[in-house]
Order: sequence, then C-alpha cells, then structure tokens
Amino acid sequence: MNDFKKNLKNYSLIELESLVKELGLPRYRAEQIYKAIYVNRIENFDQITNFPKELRIQFGNSFILNDVVIHRKSVSKDGSVKFLFKLKDGKLIEAVYMPWLTEEDELERITLCISSQSGCAIGCKFCATGTMGLMRNIDTAEILDQILLVEKEMGQKLNNIVLMGMGEPLMNFENVTRALNILTDEKTELFSRKKITISTSGIAPKIIELAKEPRPVKLAISLHATTDISRQMIIPIAKTHTITKLMDAVEYYYKTTKIPVTYEYIPLLGINDTPEDAKRLARIAKRVPSRINLIPFNDISFTGVGGLSSELKATPKDKVREFAELVRANGAAVIIRDTFGDDIEAACGQLALSEK
Ligand code: SAH
Ligand code: SF4
Repeated sequence: MNDFKKNLKNYSLIELESLVKELGLPRYRAEQIYKAIYVNRIENFDQITNFPKELRIQFGNSFILNDVVIHRKSVSKDGSVKFLFKLKDGKLIEAVYMPWLTEEDELERITLCISSQSGCAIGCKFCATGTMGLMRNIDTAEILDQILLVEKEMGQKLNNIVLMGMGEPLMNFENVTRALNILTDEKTELFSRKKITISTSGIAPKIIELAKEPRPVKLAISLHATTDISRQMIIPIAKTHTITKLMDAVEYYYKTTKIPVTYEYIPLLGINDTPEDAKRLARIAKRVPSRINLIPFNDISFTGVGGLSSELKATPKDKVREFAELVRANGAAVIIRDTFGDDIEAACGQLALSEK
C-alpha cells in the first residue's frame, strides 16, 4: 500500500528544499522536516508540531518515514548484538552493535557496523557475503535506518559508525555519500566525520571521488595481500584495481583529507603470511600515515562454497604475532584485532546466510 509513498530519509536537505518548493511551500519547511526526522526522531507526521494540521495530513498522504524493520536480534556473551533487518521487498541486511569496555569493564564507546548493500558483487574468497552475490543496492533511508533503529532499540547513542557490514560501499556510491552527508551534517546533530569509517575492497577511482566529498570520513582499505598475484586470488577486483593504482588513490585520499588510513589484513595460511609479505606490507603501509589491523579469519565453510573459499585457513595465532612483530620492526603501526560475537555469527554476511 505504501509503494507509491516516498521515504523522506532518501532526501538530502537540498533535495527536501526542492521538494517543498514543488509542493508550493516556503523553503524553511524543509529544514523543519529535516530536524524533525533526525533531531526529534519523529515516527509519524503528527509529531511535527511546528507544522499546521493540514500540512501533517498532506505529508502523511504522500510520504513515509520508515520501511525497515528489525527482523532478528542475537545477543552475544561479549555484549555485542547482531541485528538482522528486513527491507520492504523482503531483502535482508545486517548490522552489529559492539560495546567496547575499558580495562575496568566500563563502557568506553559503542560502535555500530552497518551494511551498504544487500549482498555483494565483489566475491572475495574469504567473505561470507561475497558468496551470496549482490541482491541489490540499498537506498539512503535503509542505510540511515540501521543506525536510527539500533539507537532506538538499545536506548543509547552510538559513538562510531563503520561501513564494514554487507556490501561494497563504493559500489553504492550515491546512496552511501548522501547518507554520510546527512550523518555528518551539523544540523542533524548525529556524528562527527571523525567517528565514521568507510571500508572498501579498493575501487581506486571511487576512492578519489570520495576524497572530494565536503566532509570526508575515515578510510579503511581491505588490503589482505601484498602482491597483485596473491591479491587477485582472493579479491577478484584486484585484477582491475592493482596495488599500484590502489595506493595512488590512497595517497590522493590522504593528501586531500589529511586523515590517516587503516589497512585491514586477514592473515591466511600460505596465502599472505610470509616474512616477505610482512616486509612488503610495512612498505605499502608507510606510504601515508596509517595503521594496519590484522583481523583473525572467520571460517566460512558453513556457506558450503567450494574452491579456494573452502580451503582457506587462518594463520595460527603465534605466527600472526611474529608477523605483526616483523611488520612493526619494518616501521609500520600494526595491531592484532579482537573479534566480537564469535558465538552469534557476527562476521560479515553470516547471519543473513544462516537465515536462508
Ligand atoms: N566491502 C567492504 C566492506 C565490507 S567487508 C570491504 O571489503 O572492505 C568488511 C571487512 O570484513 C573487510 O575488511 C573484510 O575483509 C572483512 N571480512 C570479510 N569476511 C571475513 C572473514 N571471513 N573473516 C574475517 N574478516 C572478514
Ligand atoms: Fe564484498 Fe567486502 Fe565481502 Fe569482499 S569483503 S565480498 S568487498 S563485503
């Protein structure tokens, strides 16, 4: 029934201004709606108290404010919570809520990892999302609602947002950048751009475009290999976006934004974990101020996908520590990252797959 009604969270402030103009309304109405949605978090048009009643009815007849629902929620022993959302056409996306504690067990900050697409077309061999292919791009409202619905459900304000869930954010560029612009706009009082990280498998030209955004955010690069040959084995787009092209784009991003870059690297047994890899990794990472996160591999054999995916194994922990030491000795900053939600299939794409 709502098919013809447009979701107002798909409009930037400028687009809302054009919309109210088309409706013959004064321009200030746009900012009133915008603030009602993001600052006052209205759930229906009756709650826009600075709108006359007829206008609230007019908006209610033509627009909606939400078409995403929380479909499933799993709570881990470590406090992280995995949310599975159902979209209006039944497609699924997921987000993971991660509370970081201090050594005294006090809540330090909360990070939400959100999706940028339903599924993903890139098909990385180590990734559960990659095995399902792309269902579809999600719209701006579907990106924003993961955040707004989790804040409402948990009754808490989130501190950091990372686009590291399902999907390749730079393959859904327009919706992702529109959402980032809304999130970092002072008028919405949502997030500082320093609290948002976008993670990409390395679409070089889009990284350059992203650097030109008005309020650029932190960038994480899923590097995962130090030679084109080994990178191409596990990340299919590495054939087009070679390490040289990728690093030129990363350098441009740093020079334009002055924001240090994060590299993500999953040590995989016999694929990318030799001492030569460690030295090359340090050399690559040192091109701009950066930090490397070594991420423990989450086995994806549950997907039933064959080929290389079924053969991948995590490098043992003691070898990862040696690898990290060697990277450090070669002058790059590196940490071994903790994982969240090992008991709730919290890794990328796992919950949506087990639902299927
Ligand atoms: N498409 C983007 C963002 C989503 S993936 C990208 O590739 O960067 C986010 C991160 O999850 C990536 O660094 C990816 O390498 C990591 N990841 C995917 N599958 C994983 C697995 N099985 N174990 C550990 N990390 C994984
Ligand atoms: Fe897509 Fe990222 Fe998974 Fe690769 S790692 S398949 S780019 S979601």
